[in-house]
Amino acid sequence: MAKKFYLAPLASLMAAVLSFASPAANAEPCLIVTLTGTQGGPPVFQGLAGAGTLVQYGDSESGCTDLALQFDVGRGTTQRLSQVNVQVGKLDAVFVTHLHSDHTEGLTELMQLRWHFNSQGPKIDFVVSDDKKSPAGHTLSGRGFAEHIGDALLESGEIAQRLLENPKRLVEGPAGLFNVMTFGDLEQPEVVWSSGDVTVQAINTRHIPGHASYRVNTPAGSVVIGGDAGNDKNAPPRDTSTSAQVEELSKDVDIIVHSTIHPVMGPDQDSGFPPPVYFRQSTATDLGAMAKRVGADHLMLTHLIPSLNAKRQGPFPIPGGALSESDYIDAVSASGYEGNTIVGTDLISLKLPAE
Ligand SMILES: [Zn+2]
Repeated sequence: MAKKFYLAPLASLMAAVLSFASPAANAEPCLIVTLTGTQGGPPVFQGLAGAGTLVQYGDSESGCTDLALQFDVGRGTTQRLSQVNVQVGKLDAVFVTHLHSDHTEGLTELMQLRWHFNSQGPKIDFVVSDDKKSPAGHTLSGRGFAEHIGDALLESGEIAQRLLENPKRLVEGPAGLFNVMTFGDLEQPEVVWSSGDVTVQAINTRHIPGHASYRVNTPAGSVVIGGDAGNDKNAPPRDTSTSAQVEELSKDVDIIVHSTIHPVMGPDQDSGFPPPVYFRQSTATDLGAMAKRVGADHLMLTHLIPSLNAKRQGPFPIPGGALSESDYIDAVSASGYEGNTIVGTDLISLKLPAE
């Protein structure tokens, strides 16, 4: 009898230990941030993809792949995603910082591919600022961009042709696969998208009308995607080239991903780079100073102006010749930032928690 008395608790204890040791119980939340493209601005250089950041979240059992969020979709994004085994049909949402082609032009091919093979859904959330009227009179419209994403292929007759081949595809073309989600003038960070324990906040920032920056919060860590944000004051004298709104969004964040211009392109040098374009970006040194102030452990520089090893930025020569990785590191270090600086190259990634 005594034997049986002791066996029962032992068995349940064993069962408890076994269930605790199972992979599901031990699965730890994790976050992977991958730069899908690091080209700065509209030029092309040595096959770099246009600006974009992939944020994946999940647990150690799934390899952090339960959720896939794409921030900006520059040219070549679809190819870069294929290199990290992310199918466009598996993306949960696309967020756009602003309506400049170097951040959006890859979306057309991405959505056409999704239409081709994933017409039956699900739709993809497309998150962007509300329509914003420029002081010059025209309107920047993310909704308009989304609604007309398939127009060239509708007009050419290709959509009709492919519908004949497979009538299960969406008659309206790739635009019909968007779930457009817009947000208004956000002067403070607000949640604009969420799924499970993951939230995405946005804040409107300066660069062009309707520019926004995003922050992803997950149990494994947080990341800010600044886009091309710059200071509200678009020329010196000013304290910094970085955005006060991005700084607010970045309080206690783990990772900052931000477009970067090297001070060598400034009007005090002789590149001939247009000063208004220089002043609407954030410099590597000022980004380091901001990362230091907010206590970010990691600063990922992307959208590099100029690209590493490029002798020109578009038509503009680089004073003193092409820049190397250490030129960007030095520019950040000049701020006193002692965190981890990553000078972006296509597909470089960062995982939290670190392995
Ligand atoms: Zn840009």
